[in-house]
Amino acid sequence: MNAFQALGLDADLLQAINDMGFETPSEVQEKSIPILLSQETDLVSLAQTGTGKTAAFGFPLIQKIDSNSKKTQALILSPTRELCLQITNELKNYSKYKKSLNVVAVYGGASITDQARAIERGAQIIVATPGRMQDMIRRNLADISTINYCVLDEADEMLNMGFYEDIKSILSHTPKHKKTWLFSATMPKEVAKIAKKFMKDPVEITVGSKNMGTSNVTHEYYLVNHRNRYDALKRLADANPDIFSVIFCRTKRDTQKVAEKLIEDGYNAAALHGDLSQNQRDLVMKSFRSRQIQMLVATDVAARGIDVDDITHVINYQLPDEIETYTHRSGRTGRAGKSGVSMVIISKSEVRKIRTIEKIIQQKFEEKQIPDGKEICKIQLFHLANDIKKTEINHDIDPYLPNINEALEDFTKEELIKKFFSVEFTRFFNYYQKAPDLTAESAGGRPEVSEGNTRYFINVGSKDGYDWKSLKDFLTGELNLDRDDIFKVDCKASFSFFNTDEKHADLILKTFTDYQQNGRYVNVEITKDQKSEGGGRKRRERSGGGRKGGGKSFNDKGSFGKRRSGSDRGDKKGHRKGSRNKNVESSIKRRRSKA
Ligand code: AMP
Repeated sequence: MNAFQALGLDADLLQAINDMGFETPSEVQEKSIPILLSQETDLVSLAQTGTGKTAAFGFPLIQKIDSNSKKTQALILSPTRELCLQITNELKNYSKYKKSLNVVAVYGGASITDQARAIERGAQIIVATPGRMQDMIRRNLADISTINYCVLDEADEMLNMGFYEDIKSILSHTPKHKKTWLFSATMPKEVAKIAKKFMKDPVEITVGSKNMGTSNVTHEYYLVNHRNRYDALKRLADANPDIFSVIFCRTKRDTQKVAEKLIEDGYNAAALHGDLSQNQRDLVMKSFRSRQIQMLVATDVAARGIDVDDITHVINYQLPDEIETYTHRSGRTGRAGKSGVSMVIISKSEVRKIRTIEKIIQQKFEEKQIPDGKEICKIQLFHLANDIKKTEINHDIDPYLPNINEALEDFTKEELIKKFFSVEFTRFFNYYQKAPDLTAESAGGRPEVSEGNTRYFINVGSKDGYDWKSLKDFLTGELNLDRDDIFKVDCKASFSFFNTDEKHADLILKTFTDYQQNGRYVNVEITKDQKSEGGGRKRRERSGGGRKGGGKSFNDKGSFGKRRSGSDRGDKKGHRKGSRNKNVESSIKRRRSKA
């Protein structure tokens, strides 16, 4: 008897399991399957993505479905279209030997009529995203009044995405006697609330310890100054030539920008965010799955449900606003028993967030240094040498060999190797030989407000309804800068401080000249003592321009109608330290095979 048989699974499922090559049940399967097969019970299971939870509910569900009846007997709700399709595909694989069992996926962005037709033909199991399911119920295109089982998959993600009302409404169309199986990576209050409200005496299963990150993921952080974030990302990629990664940014704009820069710099990268059409997203995911893309730059929402095994690295280009989201990000790697690395690029002011995450994931981070130029050259050279070693010889070139041999006959093997590597490598090597150290001094060292940074005073604070986040939003929106460009936002009662790279100083002072908000002048000045914060009242008056009069005022969207032109961007001569480096860095195209 094999281990799956011992769990009580039928022959048709065992045959499919055998075809899929699963040898032993995972922990969540071992714990859930016997209970779900032998009892009619509600269940709460705390399990991460990648632990085999789809099969943990999928196997018992398939076994319990009466495929002689065409009625819908089970509804699975999942947060995203991608996940919905993955679950559907998995269930189809599991049930391939169970005759007349139909699993239908119901999700937005595809024809609702086609989905309704598929249900009409008889769908014993519907796998749906909450929004589209609601739509179908409202239009009487699906009947879930006869289901026996409802699975809430990635419940925490669904709630994060604001699906609480949809879930509540969908459940109100299901019969009281049905059993609910809830799967979630974490157990925030909202999920506990659902369990309490919609479930009766659920059996609880925890895989690993509560809220634990996937244990075969190691966590690393890299301290850099804000302005070096992008270069640090490139170094991390260069130091890991076989990287297959998801890079997380906080906003769609940053996601797009980072992806574009990477592409420009010759990396196999692409962006995945909500401003792309479903078609574009599908294409990106297809290229990612087939490894044509090595670096997928994504927002949290768009990346939810990415179920690609073998992701080697998750890179947090910026930490998420909600620290809990970190678990979802890092869970994209280290799946199906593989190991993975979750890297975080942070500035010094964010180190405390690392400590909070450590508590949530119950794992320690390792502080690491951004690799220097020499290290990267070494890694890349060895990688190239290994590629050469592994390359199969193309005998089509044999006829040309005599001439080639003749041209090279005066060189020893050693000289030839040196010449070959020089052809491939000189530009890369020269660039990295001169590349500066990017690691910021660790906490307690040199203060970050130093060379290249400017600290400002602004006369609004918490009394005006701001906190650091909303003030940052206000500033980035008004100045048309990225969230990353404004940092160390410190919101006091009636005034606040923030930092930018010094190159933005002109733009900032210009924008906040004669600037009114709700009839009140908002005043920004450069702090005189750049290191002072709370006591930083002494400040240099900016030159020029009275603060009264003038025509700037809020429009009805709460922002200026006038946007700065490209020429006011504050890139004044003398403020462009490092730009030469950046250009050189941009011009270095990596030598990657396009295979
Ligand atoms: P999940 O957590 O359901 O997203 O599953 C993660 C991956 O592990 C999927 O690709 C499954 O096909 C695979 N998987 C699930 N159960 C097993 C198992 N017992 N042995 C090997 N692979 C599995």
